[in-house]
Amino acid sequence: MVNIINGSVLAKKIRGQVAEDIGRLKKERGVSPKLCVVLVGDDPASQIYVRNKEKACAEVGIESEICRLPASIDEKNLINIVKKLNSDANIHGILVQLPLPDTISAINVLNEIAEVKDVDGLHPINMGKLLKGESPLFLPCTAEGIIELILSTGTEIRGKEAVVVGRSNIVGKPVALMLLQRHATVTICHSRTRDLGAVTKRANILVASVGSAGIVHGEMVKDGAIVIDVGMNRVAGKLTGDVDFESASEKAAYITPVPGGVGPMTIAMLMKNGYLAAKRAA
Ligand code: NAP
Repeated sequence: MVNIINGSVLAKKIRGQVAEDIGRLKKERGVSPKLCVVLVGDDPASQIYVRNKEKACAEVGIESEICRLPASIDEKNLINIVKKLNSDANIHGILVQLPLPDTISAINVLNEIAEVKDVDGLHPINMGKLLKGESPLFLPCTAEGIIELILSTGTEIRGKEAVVVGRSNIVGKPVALMLLQRHATVTICHSRTRDLGAVTKRANILVASVGSAGIVHGEMVKDGAIVIDVGMNRVAGKLTGDVDFESASEKAAYITPVPGGVGPMTIAMLMKNGYLAAKRAA
């Protein structure tokens, strides 16, 4: 029978630990962590994500500041704002909420965030260190959350066949590298992969980060696999994942639900990175 990996419970435990660590940092070093979220435009989903981050910050004792900017801002001005935040000693972590308007290159903006304040772990130096197997200052939050979810099953990653569907910079690539670092045999699939099901069926650990509701279904899952569903798709007003939960559950040994799987872990890892940024600055 399938075991459901409860990301909400695990995330709560991690946030509790982070809150304790922050309490100690405040008491012993007099440092209060502060994050600045840069929000450009009025994308409704981004507004919700930012509100959730604000709530989580308040819960663990991180001060948060939302820098709201109009969608009409140009890249140069946005980069100047990021540079100002870099030099503000009271701000320990900066994150730019994606997506940015089409007129702005997200890569150019993210590259300007100081490596030491890069709580999303997307700066080229942090990503480069991950690629080289060195220790980045911060790991990308969703990818780190996925690794924690896998480890929570008690399964050893070493030697396992892992398949990651999706090659985004924020999820697919970093999680593949982190699985590789833990000695899994890793395959990355994408939109040009031929016979996706034949590849996913090999996976002891299957991560789906595509953005297409139910693209992974039971016939594509190996018996006894761990299935991590990153997808967040709105179907008839309901949040649903990239994995067809019902059919995949008949094959998998462990599976994450949507909602309540990867989503809460992403925020918990962001809180951890916020704490780490302030601790290093102290
Ligand atoms: P993304 O940048 O939207 O890219 C999607 C990836 O899926 C691409 O690599 C694409 O391939 C691949 N793909 C598209 N169609 C495919 C197909 N038919 N077969 C195989 N691969 C296919 O990805 P993302 O940013 O990782 O987001 C993916 C999903 O995760 C979205 O639903 C997003 O909302 C969700 N998400 C959730 C969290 C969370 O915290 N829960 C965090 C981040 C993202 P190509 O590269 O060839 O185009």
